[in-house]
Amino acid sequence: MKVNIAKNAGFCGGVKRAFMLVEKKFKNYKKKNPVFILGSLVHNENVMAVVEKWRIKKIKTLRSIKKSDTVIITAHGVSKQRIKSIKEREAIVFDTTCPNVSRVHRCVCGYAEKRFEIIIFGDKKHKEVMGINGWCGKNAKIIVTKNETKKLARQIVNSKRQRPLLVVSQTTQNIALFSEAVAALKKAAHSAGRTIKIVDTICRATSLRQAEASCISMKNDAVIVIGGKKSANTRQLWKIARNINKRVVWIDELNDRAKKEIKYLLREADTVGIVSGASTPKWDIDETVAYLKTL
Ligand code: SF4
Repeated sequence: MKVNIAKNAGFCGGVKRAFMLVEKKFKNYKKKNPVFILGSLVHNENVMAVVEKWRIKKIKTLRSIKKSDTVIITAHGVSKQRIKSIKEREAIVFDTTCPNVSRVHRCVCGYAEKRFEIIIFGDKKHKEVMGINGWCGKNAKIIVTKNETKKLARQIVNSKRQRPLLVVSQTTQNIALFSEAVAALKKAAHSAGRTIKIVDTICRATSLRQAEASCISMKNDAVIVIGGKKSANTRQLWKIARNINKRVVWIDELNDRAKKEIKYLLREADTVGIVSGASTPKWDIDETVAYLKTL
């Protein structure tokens, strides 16, 4: 069995950076003040198990935060208001927001100040999207499905408003779907005589992984996608692979169930491709490759 691993498998630059910053600061942290993390450092259970070993407690709200506690902001970033609330509690902000996400924050913030209406192409329940929306007064229109795009395009055509529009994307969205949405919104804006500015904020790590997922899915008999089930970018890779190759499994860890699925997937396969989400550690990929060698 030939195993072909995507060149860009493993942590993306932003996740690697966040993990290394947290490891460097907190792995051997001696101070008594508690350290919290707002959500998961990445959407990967194995990585979170490592983080918990460093006595970092995951929280969903700031309710329990007191003076001199530390609150880690994850690579997904948070709203402007969240950072303000941590500081108002006199706690310490340890910010690992990915620079690509911070760039989107600055972009929407700047254009909102210039009175643009902001449109975010992304999942409204995703942490990154909620964070971005929090940098433009929580007033952005958030779309991701074709229906949502159509509805918004109709509103643009029928609206009496003439404010210019800015379109950005969640950094891990599907490039092809973003382009389709942009085309529809541009058409609507032009017919309504409104200015529309498009800033493609899908990050390079995402575009490379998506292109590789297509390529690997075409060239191999079967494909294994490795990554957390809550990871948005892993889901995109899985969808891309599934559209091209019918023999695809998505595993978040190499447990008995995953092994069973892999065995079934690989019957009569001569080649298997491996792609991984941006939050999948290399050790998860190595473990799967080692298992494939035993088959
Ligand atoms: S996927 Fe891109 S934007 Fe998201 S953390 Fe990684 S490098 Fe940053």
